[in-house]
Amino acid sequence: MTPIEQRNQLIAEKLIKNLKRRHIQAFYCPTADEALAQVMSLIEAGSTITWGGSMTIRDLGITRAVKDRNDLNVIDREDATSPEEVREMYLKAFSADVYLTSANAISEDGVIVNVDGNGNRVAAITWGPKKVIFVVGLNKVAPTVEAALARARGIASPTNAMRFDIQTPCHIDGACHNCNSADSICSYVHFLRNSRQSGRHVVVLVGENLGY
Ligand code: SF4
Repeated sequence: MTPIEQRNQLIAEKLIKNLKRRHIQAFYCPTADEALAQVMSLIEAGSTITWGGSMTIRDLGITRAVKDRNDLNVIDREDATSPEEVREMYLKAFSADVYLTSANAISEDGVIVNVDGNGNRVAAITWGPKKVIFVVGLNKVAPTVEAALARARGIASPTNAMRFDIQTPCHIDGACHNCNSADSICSYVHFLRNSRQSGRHVVVLVGENLGY
């Protein structure tokens, strides 16, 4: 095991223990391939499944793998042909069996931090889908909740603003200005500090740099 792998293993073990304390089940997968297999094993045949916008989910090949299974009912908003259809899919997500997402950051003591422009993703994380599976690269682990929030707004938000070409101040210089732009990519700030329904939230930690 390399020193980096050793360090990742220790951070993951600490996080898994702290997430369990918050009634959140967690797994550690050193590689992306192992993470893909772990996520797929968590999705039962016959499930209705959807996901929030996430580079991690897509880059790991999870969306492709889900669509390739013929035993799932997939809701993919990229199949929508109008804003009305997108809205309908957002609403259907609340009754899905499985909701896949990443996180913008996670503190070492297990608080999962997300920022959201529309709010649909953090709404589904909070309530609705029977199971929410987070897939999180260890690059998103921060030492404290404050550092996790700073990561979400200082790294994830500017990068996503650039990805979607959203005209926020962070798009211009890469730094958060705590703006009140109508297009703010972090209108909704979400802290998952405890899972009220034990087993509903599951975290798959991955020992690779994934997403922003
Ligand atoms: S508050 Fe504004 S500037 Fe800061 S990350 Fe959010 S959208 Fe960007």
